[in-house]
Amino acid sequence: MPKSTTLLERSRAAVWHPCTQMKHHETLPLVPIVRGEGACLIDADGRRLIDGISSWWVNLFGHCNPRINAALRDQLEQLEHVMLAGFTHPPVVALSERLAALTGHRLGHAFYASDGASATEIALKMSAHSWRNRGRPQKNRFISLAGSYHGETVGALAVTDVALFRDAYAPLVRMGSTVPTPDARLAGSGRSAADLAREAASALEAHLQQHHAETAALIVEPLVQGAAGMVMYDAEYLRLARTLCDRYEVHLIADEIAVGCGRTGTFFAWEQVAGDDGGWPDFICLSKGISGGYLPLSLVLSSDAVFDSFYDDTTARGFLHSHSYTGNPLACRAALATLEIFEQDDVIASNRLRAAHLGKLARERFGDRPDVAHLRQCGMILAFDVTTAAPDFARRFFAAGLELEVLLRPIGNTVYFMPPYVLDDDEMHQLIDGAARALDLAQR
Ligand SMILES: *Cc1c(COP(=O)(O)O)cnc(C)c1O
Repeated sequence: MPKSTTLLERSRAAVWHPCTQMKHHETLPLVPIVRGEGACLIDADGRRLIDGISSWWVNLFGHCNPRINAALRDQLEQLEHVMLAGFTHPPVVALSERLAALTGHRLGHAFYASDGASATEIALKMSAHSWRNRGRPQKNRFISLAGSYHGETVGALAVTDVALFRDAYAPLVRMGSTVPTPDARLAGSGRSAADLAREAASALEAHLQQHHAETAALIVEPLVQGAAGMVMYDAEYLRLARTLCDRYEVHLIADEIAVGCGRTGTFFAWEQVAGDDGGWPDFICLSKGISGGYLPLSLVLSSDAVFDSFYDDTTARGFLHSHSYTGNPLACRAALATLEIFEQDDVIASNRLRAAHLGKLARERFGDRPDVAHLRQCGMILAFDVTTAAPDFARRFFAAGLELEVLLRPIGNTVYFMPPYVLDDDEMHQLIDGAARALDLAQR
């Protein structure tokens, strides 16, 4: 009997696991992880799994990273937490300044929370409240793209278009509107991804023409719609969306919770959209990678114009939102250590080589397979769609991957790789090779 059995039983009895039908664990065992080291998670029997999805897209520089560990130890000896209303502390100030600088001081005001969904809620509330403060309270509806994912709290579900996560709660949600996605796969032959982006932008314009008076904001996942199955699209859509939002006086919220922190090849995905002369969103949401995958931290960066619309003698015109752990010093310190690694190791540049190598390995192994379509890549995200007869393909592939010591968790029939930024060539080879063999097993 593996020594982890009792832990698994205790977990099934006492822990209600997320995003899970608990009954499935009667047949699919939980994976007991006891240690992390670089790109690997180590289970109770000593097996090393390559973490091909960065533990749900959060880990950037490996598990138990020595530099982040050291920063946290240092912070632990100084201050673990203080409320952020009426108080401040060095890590939250330094982090806010650094993030403002990374936006070229276009989005210079950082509001903190803990989870991604809370950042979405904050951006939605801030947008609508900002319009209200400016005498336009009727602007309180939201637009998102078909297939959008912005979190699963009741407010965030209003802009999340994933039926599986939303349908059971539909009566609780004040739904926003969805507009067509610029998903590049829809282009087919004869049209380019940019053509498709322009068509989707026309549909957005038609919606705005009719509804701008009651619309507060458009929220988008820039360049890659993650939970929809790593749907990639042309940056032209975002340039056009920015212009349209300006024309129709609608805020633009860039949800970079998954695509921020270098994931798409630039620190902010939006850097691939904006020119030097502007074109930035009104809000950027960050979470997931910002703390290096260590601690729950999320934040919303906003522009001077938004900030100024709240700045007043009247309390009720302020943004009276809070969470108990807002701006937690340990989480901010982990984020600062993460940003230091970006700078010290020139991560954006070294990831370019890493991404190119990953792409090359994937094309070699999957490029010619008849059951693989739409092999696509954006920076450190790589994905393809599998044609399969297995209705439970995702679970079969996941289980086969575990046998081969790779952690990959397809979304539907889309297999994707979103590894930490520390994989060396050998680990990349192991990951792609494991995935190819897992695909054979899952398709058997
Ligand atoms: C994960 C994610 C969220 C939600 O973040 P949580 O921390 O899981 O609440 C929101 N938006 C996007 C784009 C995400 O990928």
